[in-house]
Amino acid sequence: MRVELLKYTEEPEKVVALAARLCYSRSGIEDLEDQLDGERVRSLVEKIISLGHHSVLEHASFTFGIEGISRAASHQLVRHRIASYSQQSQRYVRYDRVDVVTPPSIASDGEALEKFESLVEEISRLYRWMLERGIPAEDARYILPNATETKIIVTMNARELNHFFTLRCCRRAQWEIRALAMEMLRIVRRVAPTIFSRSGPGCIRGGCTEGEYTCGKPEEVRKEIGELR
Ligand SMILES: Cc1cc2nc3c(=O)[nH]c(=O)nc-3n(C[C@H](O)[C@H](O)[C@H](O)COP(=O)(O)OP(=O)(O)OC[C@H]3O[C@@H](n4cnc5c(N)ncnc54)[C@H](O)[C@@H]3O)c2cc1C
Repeated sequence: MRVELLKYTEEPEKVVALAARLCYSRSGIEDLEDQLDGERVRSLVEKIISLGHHSVLEHASFTFGIEGISRAASHQLVRHRIASYSQQSQRYVRYDRVDVVTPPSIASDGEALEKFESLVEEISRLYRWMLERGIPAEDARYILPNATETKIIVTMNARELNHFFTLRCCRRAQWEIRALAMEMLRIVRRVAPTIFSRSGPGCIRGGCTEGEYTCGKPEEVRKEIGELR
């Protein structure tokens, strides 16, 4: 999997701080930036997050390029509705070879891996055979597995990213979408450390919210997410 932050709102934390200041002070737009140094930005961002005034976070957006995830993972990603997506088309793009993501549980089981790889090879052959017969790619793709690799560009604002991290950085989430979410969190923390300092599953900000599905290891999760750099 390859994840890159392609573009993001310039000075995302300052933009959020400007919006917060507009809400909570008498400043007009011409003097919103007065004395807005790094420390003041940090404290304003912390304040609005602690107040739960999270709509202010919507002013900062982040666009990621993602390659080498499976269609199984991308399907989970696009369930998040407060976002924009552009995904490589299986109607217009014809594969020479069907590249797949192999789950670790299969990769580490010799017999299962052999069967998995041989089926993928068979599917690849059949897919190419269909294309050669003139069957349109939009129909030949019906035989492709969930494991097929895809590329996608996603744009989310900071509020939606935080929601996404809450659900998908949790150990309850499926391993591939979790790996993607963890990587996205690691990346955005570099450019907006205050906004994303307490991002992650519920246990980062308090007790576990997963009830009977809890992993039972909140300390381990807090450490793992705290160490993301
Ligand atoms: C562990 C786990 C297991 C899952 N299992 C399944 C499963 O078995 N089957 C399945 O279908 N899905 C499953 N999902 C996907 C899940 O149901 C959601 O579709 C997905 O997580 C997107 O999250 P969301 O709907 O909260 O938020 P988003 O789409 O990211 O939206 C963010 C928030 O905006 C608000 N919002 C967005 N749209 C609306 C709306 N139309 N009306 C009101 N409020 C809105 C909500 O507050 C929402 O939380 C699972 C997710 C997880 C994390």
